[in-house]
Amino acid sequence: MIPYGRHSIDQEDIDAVVQVLKSDWLTTGPMVEKFELEVSRYLGVENAVAVNSGTAALHAAMNALNVGPGDEVIVPAITFAATANAVVYQGGTPIFADVDAKTLLIDPESVQERISPRTKAIVAVDYAGQPCDYDELRTIADQNKISLVADACHSLGATYKGRRVGTLADLSVFSFHPVKHITTGEGGMVVTNDGGLAKKMRRFRNHGISVDHHARAAKGSWEYDIDEVGYNYRITDFQCALGLCQLGRIEQNLERRNDVARMYDDGLSDVNGAEPLVRIGNKVHAYHLYVLSVDNQICSVKRNQIYRELRARGIGTNVHYKPVYLHSFFKERYDTCSGLCPVAEKAYNSIISLPMYHGIRNEDVDDVIKALRGII
Ligand SMILES: *Cc1c(COP(=O)(O)O)cnc(C)c1O
Repeated sequence: MIPYGRHSIDQEDIDAVVQVLKSDWLTTGPMVEKFELEVSRYLGVENAVAVNSGTAALHAAMNALNVGPGDEVIVPAITFAATANAVVYQGGTPIFADVDAKTLLIDPESVQERISPRTKAIVAVDYAGQPCDYDELRTIADQNKISLVADACHSLGATYKGRRVGTLADLSVFSFHPVKHITTGEGGMVVTNDGGLAKKMRRFRNHGISVDHHARAAKGSWEYDIDEVGYNYRITDFQCALGLCQLGRIEQNLERRNDVARMYDDGLSDVNGAEPLVRIGNKVHAYHLYVLSVDNQICSVKRNQIYRELRARGIGTNVHYKPVYLHSFFKERYDTCSGLCPVAEKAYNSIISLPMYHGIRNEDVDDVIKALRGII
């Protein structure tokens, strides 16, 4: 079976993890700080706060911005549910904006339409690995004095007009789940140039405790205060050792993913009714996903049949994502219903994600292309 996504682990990764397992610190030790430092250097941002998932990172970001009951946060209809769930955790209301039909990135016009006096933030999702239109989103955010957050879980290493993802929003969130560009098993990070927000997130990930054990040891005192409730969202040192090792291969991973995308582009260019999502020229794409859009009218077979037949041939594909507001929870709690974001709903019936990971072999990419050409 060729999966749609997969991690790569080499001997260096294994050695790095084993070394930490034999050390004094399994968690909250030096590797966490080192990983944060290296990610912030790579991205060119001042602060990085590591946590134990991308979802925890989104939650920390929403908390740092004081999202609470009565507040609205605009999120795209097409994203992983965690983007909206993080707003729900804080008691806020997710407001779903439609996406651009060609890229499935949040549509700034739809964002503009959904701004209200209650809007606290916009969360942009760099769907598939392509950065959103951050200049337009920044203008809307500034005009309305609200925050701009990047859910950059798909786009580590991508750039927009020469600027690195991680520097484009007030807070940017990454995931290190095994299908992402680098992995720590489970893990995530929030980066920001705002030191105050970073400090708040460091407390949030550690029960809300005001001074961590390092600071207490330095002061020679057991005493600490909790002035706001937090969680245990800490990541372990052995995970961070893995992340550090993986980070060393990020550029290589991105290049490979772009090569695989080019192979798909070339191999499928003359297939009628199935087109890749549009890639905008002023961006470096991180290709977390390679998404094909199947026109169910023009194409000889429909999307669902392509999914089934690829699966029967041992090729794993996926659909990213069902518009979040169509999940029962959101329909029941927020009274959302179909018709809310027509572009997203139409896309949901036509998209399919082909196998995309940096460890995929050329033969496997060729097999996927051949299978698809055969089916269509
Ligand atoms: C992976 C992902 C997340 C959540 O990350 P986890 O590490 O799995 O919690 C959030 N948003 C998007 C867009 C993602 O792809």
